Amino acid sequence: MRRELSVGDRIGNRYRIDEQVGRGGFTVVWKATDGRTGDTVAVKHPNYGAGKSEDAVEKYFGRELEALRTIERNGSHPNIMSLRETVVERGVQYMIVEFVAGEELERHGGIDDPDLVTDIGTQLCGIFSVLHDLEIVYRDLKPDNAMLTPDDDVVLIDFNTARTIPKCGNCGQKVDFDSSTDQYCPNPQCNTRLDRQTQIRAGPAGRSKYKPPEVKNADGIQGPWSDVYSIGKLLYFLATGLVTAHPMDDPRGRIDCPDYLADIVVRATALEPINRYRNAGVMRYCLEQRDADAHKDLPEAVLTNVETGEKYTVAPGDTIGRENASGPFPTIGFEDDDQIISRVHAKFDFDGDQWVIVDKSTNGTVIDASDPSASRLPDWDGILQRESWDGQPGEAPPQYATLDDLTVIGVPRPDRGVRLQFSRQ
Ligand SMILES: [Zn+2]
Repeated sequence: MRRELSVGDRIGNRYRIDEQVGRGGFTVVWKATDGRTGDTVAVKHPNYGAGKSEDAVEKYFGRELEALRTIERNGSHPNIMSLRETVVERGVQYMIVEFVAGEELERHGGIDDPDLVTDIGTQLCGIFSVLHDLEIVYRDLKPDNAMLTPDDDVVLIDFNTARTIPKCGNCGQKVDFDSSTDQYCPNPQCNTRLDRQTQIRAGPAGRSKYKPPEVKNADGIQGPWSDVYSIGKLLYFLATGLVTAHPMDDPRGRIDCPDYLADIVVRATALEPINRYRNAGVMRYCLEQRDADAHKDLPEAVLTNVETGEKYTVAPGDTIGRENASGPFPTIGFEDDDQIISRVHAKFDFDGDQWVIVDKSTNGTVIDASDPSASRLPDWDGILQRESWDGQPGEAPPQYATLDDLTVIGVPRPDRGVRLQFSRQ
């Protein structure tokens, strides 16, 4: 049995433990003072005393740490709790993180100010766009995972990635995404291809009222619209103070709510994914415009698969990537057994005048890929690569490019993966 921390202890000969502020199934959180700077910080460590196996709590802790490190590597984010450092002492790993003052959103059900609810929704949509771009899965948004600061900033404080082990929808075999290649069911008799169209069942413990039907019951295809549902449901809770199982009722039946906000909540939580906003960026735009139909003013473009002729409609904020079972899911997914396409490979945006493609991948994206014999290597002409590219300094390719009509995009190369021709509508 490990010794529990107590008030007055020092971690890393630097952080003085002041007070316990949180204790969940997987982690314990303390408020502490940085002895060098006088700053208030939070100290998190695995909760070994909650009756769960050491393996389970350490795995959860490791996932959260990995997610926070990925965010820090990519420049941190004002709406996500920042990681300062880690300390290992007497065999226990401690995360030293930003101390976020305020209250959990859980304490804010029934906010009597539609502008504040709208603003919280706008911030949540921004957070989810960033997490997906970094391929961080956050499948369980709940109002106790985020704080509202005294300045009304939303800060995500808990990476609730302690997901229950999903099961293959075909045979019921448990699928451990941490050790499988996330391509096929591990049961050799089944071997079903696992992608977002495979019905993956979450265990009953993973059922949350904030989860959409396609996640809770494996009823439909998961995608960016699945998080749109969770954000909509959270806004319903903030506006009404209630959380109900599906189907949702109209918040106007419960409270005095402006039409735009009620309409946005109703659309975000539609039963059928096709009736929701297609991604968090589009929902954010409607919240900002205070108009549930504002997305209809956004332009659409078309991508045509050069090899198959298949066409896909693209809205600002949509992503392309590899079909996969563990998420995050791109808006438009492609089969890719070689796994050279990233799960979230590139994102499309509209800057008011021009369409822009933003690379989010490991292997990069080639624009002007009309000649399939050109591998575009080793010279970097036409290659886009996300900022975390770790090649030689000074050689880093750009991450963004504007798109001209009929430009061919190689994902990741003209001669490998998928080629898509872009056209404005
Ligand atoms: Zn199976």
